[in-house]
Amino acid sequence: MTDYYEVLGVSRDATAEQIKKAYRRAAMKYHPDVNSEADAAEKFKKISEAYEVLSDDNKRAVYDRGGDPKHGGGFSGFDGFGAGGFDFTNLMDAMFGQQGGRGPRSRVRRGQDALVRTKLDLYEAVFGTRKKVSVDTAVLCGRCQGSGAAEGSEPVTCKVCHGRGEIVQTQRSFLGDVRTTSACPQCRGYGSVIPNPCIECDGEGRVRSRRDITVKIPAGVDTGNRIHLASQGEVGPGGGPAGDLYVELLVNEHPVFHRDGDNLEMELSVPMTAAALGTEVTVETLEYEWSESPEEDRIAHIEVPAGTQSGTRVTLPGRGVPNLRGKGRGDLGVTFRVATPTRLNAEQTRLLQELAELRDETDPQPDVHKREAGKGFFDRIKESFR
Ligand SMILES: [Zn+2]
Ligand SMILES: [Zn+2]
Repeated sequence: MTDYYEVLGVSRDATAEQIKKAYRRAAMKYHPDVNSEADAAEKFKKISEAYEVLSDDNKRAVYDRGGDPKHGGGFSGFDGFGAGGFDFTNLMDAMFGQQGGRGPRSRVRRGQDALVRTKLDLYEAVFGTRKKVSVDTAVLCGRCQGSGAAEGSEPVTCKVCHGRGEIVQTQRSFLGDVRTTSACPQCRGYGSVIPNPCIECDGEGRVRSRRDITVKIPAGVDTGNRIHLASQGEVGPGGGPAGDLYVELLVNEHPVFHRDGDNLEMELSVPMTAAALGTEVTVETLEYEWSESPEEDRIAHIEVPAGTQSGTRVTLPGRGVPNLRGKGRGDLGVTFRVATPTRLNAEQTRLLQELAELRDETDPQPDVHKREAGKGFFDRIKESFR
């Protein structure tokens, strides 16, 4: 006969606790769900068999006296699991340290996570802010404090399952006895029923509510970023711990600035004459919209060098978006667009014609620009080998 003590790796005088520990260790190692080796299933069966015997005082006594516990009294379930109808209760017991079955499930469970979205103006996303958001959520029922029972009443033990929360059925099959365990239909597995539910929450232990929360938004966030607020989600059934709240951000389009990574970009129109002669312009920065920014940061003076072309970009270092990972602030990029004058009067037309004659540009042949990107595939291959 198999040496069950050897199978579990315990001594003959091992305590119930030591046997349980040894089984838990072995079961976790050889359970077919976690171990796919060919002989794991066979080992797992042996381990379970050993545990089935050694964890039961009566069967262990029969076995210690040299008897065969399979023929002892009250052992009908044994062949059942050996033939594939293994009752998982033992494994669950061993892993979670419960006594006698999975037991009733708790009415108290963790609440769900919640997601809300909120819109930000660009300056709020760039400089950070505090934002009030409204959340439709579940909060603890104030009347029953989460118990679900009406004032002066209590949940009572379920008469169908006697508080076990589950019912066990044994069916005979050609493989032997097969035990199936299912949740008690009367109490839905709770093991108790609430005869007088709380009128406020109808026995749920929580009620729907709208809550205002002030969320701190760090500087540098962008559309799609989520702020995680632990335990600010729904309170669970039975007044269980609250889930988490996620606030997803959506940054409004700005009429002047647009964001490119950590940089802010803007375009400035410059008259043709100013672009040719050079000048200095003053612009309102994004700080202009933010009441907490220092006065001197709200405007910037930008030099337009003489001969500035349309499309020229200059940068104001450190005037962009703060990096969320603390890598400093990006730049403010300013791209010039040279504005060609329209609606010229007679004198302006005459002056421009005069200028054109002076510059010998009365009959210009346009310069054709060669496109960098227009290079053929083989040109690029050749370049990459150079
Ligand atoms: Zn209530
Ligand atoms: Zn029940």
